Amino acid sequence: MYSQQKIKMGNNILDQCISHAKIILNEYDICDNCTGRLFAKRMGSSSNQLLGKKIRNRLNFKSSKICYICKEIHSNLQSIVDRMLEQSSGYEFSTFVLGGILKPSIIDRDDLIRSKFKLQGIDSVKTGITKELSKKFAMKTKKKIDFLYPDLTFTYNFKNDSCELQTRTLIFSGRYVKKNRGLPQKQSSCINCNGKGCLQCNNHGFSNFTSVEGKIAKFLFEKFSGTQTKITWIGGEEKNSLVLGNGRPFFIKLYNPKKRVARLQKKYALDELEIHNLKIISKIPKKVISFRSTIKLSILTEQKLTQKSLEPLKTLKKISIEIFDKPNKKTQKSIYRIKFKKSSPKSFLIWIIADGGLPIKRFVEGNNVNPNLSELLGNKCRCKEIDFHNVDLLNI
Ligand SMILES: [Zn+2]
Ligand SMILES: [Zn+2]
Repeated sequence: MYSQQKIKMGNNILDQCISHAKIILNEYDICDNCTGRLFAKRMGSSSNQLLGKKIRNRLNFKSSKICYICKEIHSNLQSIVDRMLEQSSGYEFSTFVLGGILKPSIIDRDDLIRSKFKLQGIDSVKTGITKELSKKFAMKTKKKIDFLYPDLTFTYNFKNDSCELQTRTLIFSGRYVKKNRGLPQKQSSCINCNGKGCLQCNNHGFSNFTSVEGKIAKFLFEKFSGTQTKITWIGGEEKNSLVLGNGRPFFIKLYNPKKRVARLQKKYALDELEIHNLKIISKIPKKVISFRSTIKLSILTEQKLTQKSLEPLKTLKKISIEIFDKPNKKTQKSIYRIKFKKSSPKSFLIWIIADGGLPIKRFVEGNNVNPNLSELLGNKCRCKEIDFHNVDLLNI
């Protein structure tokens, strides 16, 4: 009884749609897809084309003219799907999304039909076309449509028949260990494009890979392909510093990767640089990351020293080091552990565990940092080497 009623109701809606369609189709030639789209929501139909065909068959409309709204875009979708397949070959992906740019005239004609015949709440011609294309592409590739985090984003421009492809940025976290001196942390930009990316630098924005940043980026380009990288450091060091122990943490974004599935090793050795614990993560933490560094300093002094003359260094433990950057800006950092040893009449070694971001050189020499080693010892101090033996994250 109930299902019979339902069929009857369904037929009633179909009848209503058919009589509504009759009025429209008497005036305009509209293809199956566009006709179906005008009534799909009312009919609860998932295929515009089948619904349109059904309506037009019932009305015996067999027009051979060009669709007034889409100008036959719908009958040319297969060639666009082929284009998308070609463009995405070589890319690893499991989800995608497609956006379209239509000629304004098509959108205008669709708007005209919708308002003239009071068709509310229906998909626009653009949605109709991109849905249809997406469906075809999904069927062909067995990949899923994902509007939020698609691996691939296609933009098809119907105005000039161009197809653009972007891939979702990959984000990595990891640590690096630098065992030899002389490698700068940051990579200088390509001189030709100033880092924007050009033909000369293969769109990477770097013309060589002669730094920690460059070597990590090159490793990712080789493994995942991609255009550019953007690195976030947890603290910094000089060209001549070593980074040992558990290494310095970093985050890096890789734009437009072609590959996105990889079994990552615990450790990669890239000449003088090692990458440890490289992982793909969903996002870079937004909060300020606190960390502590274990640092070994090799310090030269102007005057001779004795082990006893180094004793004042003990007072540095657990006191606040004040750093004056601008006239009214003061930051504070702490030192948690300290050990020291005279290494020659005019040099000593010092090991500290300190808050991340303590400006070491200034702390040694005394440039707007209070207390500082030169003042504390009454002996002008200079850094020979600053080596990082551990960097520990506190809030991750
Ligand atoms: Zn059409
Ligand atoms: Zn360039």
